[in-house]
Amino acid sequence: MIAPISLLAELLQALPQLRAQIYFKSSMTALSHAMEDLVLAGSDGEPLVIASFQRERFYRQEAHRYRRIAERSSQVYVLAAPETDFKNSSECHENIAFDPSDGLSQEWHLVVLGEHYSTCLICHEKILQPPQEENRGLRGMDQARRFEGIWTFDREVSSKAAALLLERIVKYRPELTEKVDRARATYNLVKVPKTKRKSVNSKTALPDKKGTQESKVPIPKLSDVFAERLVTYLQAGQHKLLKAYASIAAQERKERLVNLITTAMRQSLNPHEIIEIAVQELGSALSACRCLIYRCKTTDAQVNIDREFLRAGVSSLLGETWYLQENPVFNYAVERQQSVYILDTAEHPLTSSNEELRAIVQRWQIVSWLMVPVLYQGRILGMVELHQSRSTLPWEEDELALVEAIATQLGAALIQAETYAHLEELNQQLEALDRTRSNLIAITGHELRTPLSTIQVCLESLSSEPDMPAEIRQIMLETALGDAERMRKLVQDFLTLSYLESGQVAWNLESLTLQECVDLALSSVKARSFDRTLPEIITEVSAQLPLVKADGEWLVEVLSKLLDNACKFTNSQGTVTVRACCNGCGMVEVLVADTGRGIEPNSLKVVFDRFYQEEGALRRSAGGTGLGLAICKQIVAGWGGKIWADSAGKDKGSEFHFTIPIV
Ligand code: ADP
Repeated sequence: MIAPISLLAELLQALPQLRAQIYFKSSMTALSHAMEDLVLAGSDGEPLVIASFQRERFYRQEAHRYRRIAERSSQVYVLAAPETDFKNSSECHENIAFDPSDGLSQEWHLVVLGEHYSTCLICHEKILQPPQEENRGLRGMDQARRFEGIWTFDREVSSKAAALLLERIVKYRPELTEKVDRARATYNLVKVPKTKRKSVNSKTALPDKKGTQESKVPIPKLSDVFAERLVTYLQAGQHKLLKAYASIAAQERKERLVNLITTAMRQSLNPHEIIEIAVQELGSALSACRCLIYRCKTTDAQVNIDREFLRAGVSSLLGETWYLQENPVFNYAVERQQSVYILDTAEHPLTSSNEELRAIVQRWQIVSWLMVPVLYQGRILGMVELHQSRSTLPWEEDELALVEAIATQLGAALIQAETYAHLEELNQQLEALDRTRSNLIAITGHELRTPLSTIQVCLESLSSEPDMPAEIRQIMLETALGDAERMRKLVQDFLTLSYLESGQVAWNLESLTLQECVDLALSSVKARSFDRTLPEIITEVSAQLPLVKADGEWLVEVLSKLLDNACKFTNSQGTVTVRACCNGCGMVEVLVADTGRGIEPNSLKVVFDRFYQEEGALRRSAGGTGLGLAICKQIVAGWGGKIWADSAGKDKGSEFHFTIPIV
């Protein structure tokens, strides 16, 4: 069994004057490389080199260096805990595969003993305990691994470390005893007293074959090499670190911005507010001269710029019309649904080949142009534009990714706001519907109850008073019958309106001659009014009028209702006119005008509401249900037409217009 003894502990025990120090992995790497480079510089004979790696994988990263080191010396020993194919072997250098439970597996050692210099790095890894929360972020960072140990040029320390390591080597590979003994002899290791405190650096060094070490091998030169290498490695480490910091900072900035937009999105369901935050944050984060965010559809020809981030001294586009469909950059981004980044508008084929775009670029001083579409499930919701008015450093890939990330967030935010707005609208509609339903029940109840009460009173009187004079009896009967008829009409109109409003009507659209429909309507009006004198009815419908596309039955219904009303609200001395003409928009406009009692201007719209009657249902003088115009409105909408009323006011006559599409 191998005891997990630390080599560092052994060394510190042997040389108690030593004080261990903390080293980060990056410093360890730099020191090791600089020490190895001293060997590779090759000015100090055949040094003894012992390197102990915690794992085989760490050795693999340096294997090529050790192959080169082995070319300089025959006394090179590499120790590592095996993982895949590292084993005891004697190839270009001696490989010693130690047991992973050996204390060596937690240590990093490098000892170099040359003729004129010696150096060693003997360190033990300090494993951070999991509960140390503040180190959680560092645990993943290899460079932040910490070691505790000794790094020195002291020959005594280096020799002791070498001696201890050689002992372990022999334990693992007894067949190397002879070679190790040779090393001990060559590098004077056996003579090193365990408790000697003073540095023995130059004095215990092996005598130079050709004279003194000062005269032959200039120590300052070696330390210069070492220092130079060390600085290079540290610089490289520093550079890596700075790069890592920069990328962390960029990532952090990106996350902050994305968070900001997300928070804004959560806090606000107002698309304008969301866009305003995004435009300002994005513009300043990317140090743009101008940042625009606008909502648009693929088919929009132009937009009005209403949100903008602007750098001082840059001309504003606020309130300007921004052409989209004629802009090849916009089209490119929309067609491919991806960002377009033009570094130099003067050079890029999209911007330099189009004369109008060149003028725009010049007028608004756009040197670099970035367009990122705001998409949601493949639908274009808007565009993010960033402009640079002078040549600056191009935006980096991570900055472009940031704009795209914001555009994605924006897409989701806008959809959320849109959905919310729809929901609000839907809620309002539902509320209105609910109100209408309640009103409807109340009004219908009232409308039905009134004639029903009259009928009841009449019938009760008739049955309870058998002596009633025949004249009054007749009046009673007629009143009851009249109100029964009114109720019938009311129920019928109400059912018709409900049917139309349900949206279940199967429209039978056909090509019709308007004249025929007017004639049919007129005859039914006349038939219904046999008991009274109607005003004069004039029809001015040209035979040349094109055919219209509508459902014939319903068209006659509209005409009948309008003519009925016109006759009802006009005395027999007045006139009613039916006229029709093409309105130039693919529609025939029909007019039913009368010279009757007219409509007050503020009632022109409400006459189409259900149960609207100017004098109120109870004081009604002209009969009717108050549902006729509401029915007309539904029918006309059914064929895609419009209906409206005009009147110069009380007693100035009324005009009812409606449109029907031409075939
Ligand atoms: P009604 O059965 O009461 O006629 P309508 O819906 O057809 O119901 O009309 C609603 C109200 O519009 C009428 O009661 C009347 O006050 C007004 N109105 C409709 N047509 C005319 C018209 N030609 N002249 C004046 N007022 C009209």
